[in-house]
Amino acid sequence: MPGEGTASAKVMFVGEGPGEQEDVQGHPFVGAAGKLLTELLQSIDLARHDVYITNVVKCRPPNNRPPRKDESAACRPYLERQISLIQPKVICPMGNSAIRAFLDSDESVTALHGIPFEKDSITYFPMYHPAAALYTFSLKKVMEEDFRKLRGLLDSMAD
Ligand code: URA
Repeated sequence: MPGEGTASAKVMFVGEGPGEQEDVQGHPFVGAAGKLLTELLQSIDLARHDVYITNVVKCRPPNNRPPRKDESAACRPYLERQISLIQPKVICPMGNSAIRAFLDSDESVTALHGIPFEKDSITYFPMYHPAAALYTFSLKKVMEEDFRKLRGLLDSMAD
């Protein structure tokens, strides 16, 4: 499941890897976490088709386990190609696994979320994975606030 969205997207969201439904349906974030992602996008006046949504790995790892390093590395050229074709201004890695794919740090999403950093002319804006807010309800407010910050960041950038 490669991902989907607009080729001219200013912002790209990157999750960990497709779940069962994503693999079956061929669309990213179609389950409960995806529903929340769609809601959060709408809260800042973005539709799913305004952005690009993808994952670090392109296939669901067996038994839904987190992707191993070699699996992430195997999918990396595909992700790099997506980034170079779409040329997003902002990449939002969602959750620890996606954040670690872009940032060489042991810090967790708890410390990194909502704080933009710059690398190779791209602004990265780490976020919680929407699934986290399904388990820990208080994180929904944190995610809403991070999406508001993302709106401000996007508005501050020239088209
Ligand atoms: N979780 C992810 O990380 N990616 C998806 O596409 C769906 C759920």
